[in-house]
Amino acid sequence: MLVYLNGDWIPADSARVSVFDRGFVFGDSVYEVIPVYGHRPFREAAHLARLKASMTAVGMDERLGPVHWPSVCARLAETLPTGDGTLYLQVTRGAAPRQHAFPANAPLTLFAYARPRVSEPAGNAACTAILCDDIRWARCDIKTTSLIANVLLVQEALSRGADEALLVRDDRVNEGAVSNVFAVCGEQLLTAPRNHLILGGITRDVVLELAAGLGIVVEERAPSRAELSDAREVFITGSSREVTAVTRIDGKPVGDGRPGPVFHRLHAAFQTFKEEVRMG
Ligand code: PLP
Repeated sequence: MLVYLNGDWIPADSARVSVFDRGFVFGDSVYEVIPVYGHRPFREAAHLARLKASMTAVGMDERLGPVHWPSVCARLAETLPTGDGTLYLQVTRGAAPRQHAFPANAPLTLFAYARPRVSEPAGNAACTAILCDDIRWARCDIKTTSLIANVLLVQEALSRGADEALLVRDDRVNEGAVSNVFAVCGEQLLTAPRNHLILGGITRDVVLELAAGLGIVVEERAPSRAELSDAREVFITGSSREVTAVTRIDGKPVGDGRPGPVFHRLHAAFQTFKEEVRMG
């Protein structure tokens, strides 16, 4: 497998990054994951805009690492054997003697590779979740590789026999450790507003568009813990899991414990949309 590293295409086994790279030493680094269907990067412009926004938010100067990401993405997407998979893009603040202050003019480290899709995303299959205190920092809108809190939260979910951790801050369920969250509460479909407490998911945006097209009204308001526990349906969205129903939270069934009608409509619409992308 060839990976992209600082302008070169190198076999993954021989690609090398300095031990003084700030991505390694400080987690001083941002990233993107872009789904690919039929060799076509999905919502590439939105993902690249979010990468740029993350870089701007952490003060990374693009001029220190010029790259034409669309060409890199196109070449990586071509290598996927079935045409489906994900692209991983990462930008670090480069290698420099260890001190917290930004280094002067260190070139950014630019890294990207393609990962084939191992199986179809969960789709209709359900997943389970637990509720956890949101122990992350207050800039969840930046897609940074400083993911230790998310790592701990996912591990907590797995150790309790669940797939995802739904994160609660000030009694509001804002998102998951690796996903955005939607909940059907009474007659309303709720999802947290796009602000510094969530990562503005590209899949979330697609689902909002599909919901609008289907006449499903979405209120951008984070459900309270009580609302979530009474929800008739809960589902999560993300680039890898697409749109996946959550059928149990903390061991208790959501609604009747099966994926519900709102999920089914949005999931079907997402599959259709995805196939259109795949076919070009
Ligand atoms: N929220 C968090 C914390 C995530 O890590 C992710 C994806 O990795 C998402 C939401 C979903 O974002 P996207 O739909 O762009 O993949």
